[in-house]
Amino acid sequence: MATIEQIIDKFKKCHPLADAEIIEKAHQFAQKAHNGQKRKNNEPVLEHLLQTAYILAELKLDAASIAAGFLHDILEYTPVTLEEIKKNFGEEIASLIEGLTFIEKVKCLHKTGDRQMEHLRKILLAMAKDIRVILIKLADRVHNMKTLNALPEEKQKRLALETLEIYAPLAYRLGINWLRRELEDLAFPYVYPEEYLDLKKKVKDKYLEGEEYIKRITPLVKRILNERNIQVLRIDARAKHLYSLYQKLLRYNMDWQKIYDLVAIRIIVPNVENCYAVLGIVHKNWRPLIGRIKDYIAMPKPNGYQSLHTTVFCKGGKITEFQIRTPEMDNEATFGIAAHWYYKERGNNKNRKDISRFVGKELLSQKPKDKIIREIEWMKQLQEWQKEEFSSPEEFFNSLKIDFLRKRIFVFTPKGEVIDLPEGATPIDFAYHVHTELGDHCAGAKVDNKLTALDQPLENGQMVEIIVQKDKSPNRDWLKSVRTNLAKNRIKNWLKRHQNY
Ligand code: MN
Repeated sequence: MATIEQIIDKFKKCHPLADAEIIEKAHQFAQKAHNGQKRKNNEPVLEHLLQTAYILAELKLDAASIAAGFLHDILEYTPVTLEEIKKNFGEEIASLIEGLTFIEKVKCLHKTGDRQMEHLRKILLAMAKDIRVILIKLADRVHNMKTLNALPEEKQKRLALETLEIYAPLAYRLGINWLRRELEDLAFPYVYPEEYLDLKKKVKDKYLEGEEYIKRITPLVKRILNERNIQVLRIDARAKHLYSLYQKLLRYNMDWQKIYDLVAIRIIVPNVENCYAVLGIVHKNWRPLIGRIKDYIAMPKPNGYQSLHTTVFCKGGKITEFQIRTPEMDNEATFGIAAHWYYKERGNNKNRKDISRFVGKELLSQKPKDKIIREIEWMKQLQEWQKEEFSSPEEFFNSLKIDFLRKRIFVFTPKGEVIDLPEGATPIDFAYHVHTELGDHCAGAKVDNKLTALDQPLENGQMVEIIVQKDKSPNRDWLKSVRTNLAKNRIKNWLKRHQNY
């Protein structure tokens, strides 16, 4: 149960100077409009609205988003009109509600048909205009997943699958890891019931064992770091969430021996220098495993994640993963893009109305620059992707899943420019993402200065150089060795133009 007092309290804690009046007003308005309405699980609708708003407050979002959380079902389930919302709450909140209601109307993403495809396209467009629409939708989905039990079995499966395929990856893409974990673990038992039960049984003791081990070595690690004058802000055990463990086990043919990060030790230190110092000290005391040192500080993941990871033969020879980061990186890893609303409102309270536009001038001056660039990039990619042509609804959904929602890698041009591609992309994908001409005349590729086959999947951090020959041109086989829809379409276009497709 969440109460309006708790929500206001949470909101006030991270926005001490902001006005919470609009949140209380939205609460009262929703209470009146939904009065007497119950959900399938027999709980009052108001409970669902409180829970949704609570999650938004936990995400540290602004007052408009939390108010919209209370009003998100109002157009669909009550006689209240958009005009009334506009009159009572203003344009900003009304436009959030409009976007959300629009998404709600598309009941079924899996009934593929041209109309559904058109709808989903519009949803994504609505999302691309204001990212808060997605955040509210994600919060709504978390509570819907928590109460999924009350729905018919067929509907449970469908919503859970949609959560795994669309909403959890969206949360991941936005860098909001706790929402992604939550959504995945809520959906997992409905989509793969047997695998879930089996894994849950097997992992229980291993989790406990791992956590206990880390509790035992924590004082030792602390002492070693203190001796070297490193101030440790926090040190704790981090257990891998069930669904991501399941995914990893699938990748490793269910071989538990290969899972080194079931429970990792996480160390939070004040600054970046400290992070590298800790890494050095850990390696000096315990031998690292080859190929397991990851510097996501110098090379952040495309969703903004930063941290140092290393796996060592720790005390007693136990293979243990260390994750080392600053408080800012830790905050970013949990809240991702949502954190930016927090900074935004902190930075400017008086002119809140003026900064409602997502990429307004005011926003630009208030947020750390790299974050703004990442948000704009994200929006740009979404908009670019939507311009692509799709020959069938299936192709559209596949492209959404692969081009847009799949895990991404960063690769570099020889000039050091970063190109962001989906996992599994090849040098041909890379070429087309840089420039159509480069793709159309691609004769070969050098990856990290070594000649590489054009269908060899690229890996994060590689430098890719495309060898161009004027007389080279795409052939039909290329269609099999590209991953992205963009490259596929460019190749098809070329083949069409040259009349051999
Ligand atoms: Mn809802």
